[in-house]
Amino acid sequence: MNFEVKKQILDKIEQYDRIFLFRHVRNDGDCVGATKGMKSIITATWPQKEVYIIDTSLAAYLEFMGPEDEEVADELYADALGIVLDTASEARISNKKYTLCKELIKIDHHIPLETYGDIVWVEEERSSCCEMVVDFYRTFADKLVLNQEGATHLYTGMVTDSGRFKYEGVTGETMRCAGTLLDVGVDTDLLFARLYLEAFEYLKFKAHLYQKMQITENGVAYIIVDKEMQEQFNLTLEQASACVGTLDSIRGCIAWMIFVENGDEQDSFRVRLRSRFMHVNPIAEKYRGGGHACACGATVYGRAEIAALLADTDALVKEYKETNEGWL
Ligand code: AMP
Repeated sequence: MNFEVKKQILDKIEQYDRIFLFRHVRNDGDCVGATKGMKSIITATWPQKEVYIIDTSLAAYLEFMGPEDEEVADELYADALGIVLDTASEARISNKKYTLCKELIKIDHHIPLETYGDIVWVEEERSSCCEMVVDFYRTFADKLVLNQEGATHLYTGMVTDSGRFKYEGVTGETMRCAGTLLDVGVDTDLLFARLYLEAFEYLKFKAHLYQKMQITENGVAYIIVDKEMQEQFNLTLEQASACVGTLDSIRGCIAWMIFVENGDEQDSFRVRLRSRFMHVNPIAEKYRGGGHACACGATVYGRAEIAALLADTDALVKEYKETNEGWL
């Protein structure tokens, strides 16, 4: 699929001696895995090329994926190729110096609300952007080199963005891509331990969430992780935001979300929305956000807007339940 655009991307990578890789703000396993995996493929294939990932530090749970490159002089961007991975809109590109690159490529699997870049390869049905990078490798396997380090980065992104190969977007092609990585060699025991073991204290916080979680009339489960709760359990914003999965297995709650209080003057809350069977992205898009059909993010201001977003989602769930069968 999309052979032509992949060939154009390969040609551009071959053409440039210096390449910068970019990803989205609030990094996650997929955007980090995709940038690091792509870097690994390029440097293993063409050792003489300069490839940089210059970005903010990694989320704490991803620190094992290694350090980023040191900042370089702005002039170096001018004759370089930029590749932005896993990022739907320009506003969400983390390192704003992407504008300095001579040419820009977008590789992404989010719903495209806008576009950017000279070459655009978007497949929104893909379970992760890492899957696209593996597909790129598989398409040109006679030319490209993938080593264990690259395979591990890409597998990390595939595992995290697909909920350990559980979500809707997982296909036979996903598994074939994952199989390619396992054939190269990934220490899955170590990787799963690094990703999913939790601190004793964090489980205490989860127990608290189970006490506090609420459900709207038609079955939207939610929790407001306010500043008080964050302080009580000594949580960073990142740790407070990581608990959305706590609500993912309640029978009848086909949509769920958390509201994490940022503690700023605007009284803003980060919203992380999730669903099964039905799609919640229209809600995220209404409240300044976006993402995927069943996993998206938004920002709301004040308690009144939390109530409005919940009411909108509740109405969507009601309509879905009334017009569809087979949901659980
Ligand atoms: P999160 O809950 O932050 O993990 O977001 C789920 C998915 O939605 C990820 O793929 C994010 O990149 C995307 N996303 C989150 N927030 C936004 C936003 N404000 N605008 C567009 N996409 C978003």
